Amino acid sequence: MHRSIHVIIGAISGLFFASKLYLIPLCLIMGGIGGYIPDFDLRFGHRKSLHNLFSVLIGGIGLYLLLNLFPLNLLRNNVWSLTLSFVAGWLLHICCDSLTKRGVYIIWPFSNRVYGLRIFRSDSLASTAMGFIIAFILLLSWLIYSGALELLIKYL
Ligand SMILES: [Zn+2]
Repeated sequence: MHRSIHVIIGAISGLFFASKLYLIPLCLIMGGIGGYIPDFDLRFGHRKSLHNLFSVLIGGIGLYLLLNLFPLNLLRNNVWSLTLSFVAGWLLHICCDSLTKRGVYIIWPFSNRVYGLRIFRSDSLASTAMGFIIAFILLLSWLIYSGALELLIKYL
């Protein structure tokens, strides 16, 4: 699955944690960053070192602590929304990669076993199409969940 699709899916997942209207752009960004980060392991232990639950936990705790240290109240007061957006983006990246043939080492470093549905190749058209379908379903779910779709229909 292409990295940009991971970023789009991550950004949309961040929307679910935007508890206030002004948090929407921040949660979009944090979710997108969470979706972007796992493939930094492309050059070292790909699908291992940053595609597991342990790395998500460490990344989430690290971001939580970092945001608490930040002198900006906007970040400090919304640390949970921002951290959960980031974690959701990262987790969805791993879930999407688990659909590809290579799978993911979800419980590494505790096990070297590869997990996943392993349906299609990562660089295939089917993978890209599935990425867009997941992004669309997520966006539609958020529009319904947040009430934004109802507002949109009301004003059309
Ligand atoms: Zn990946």
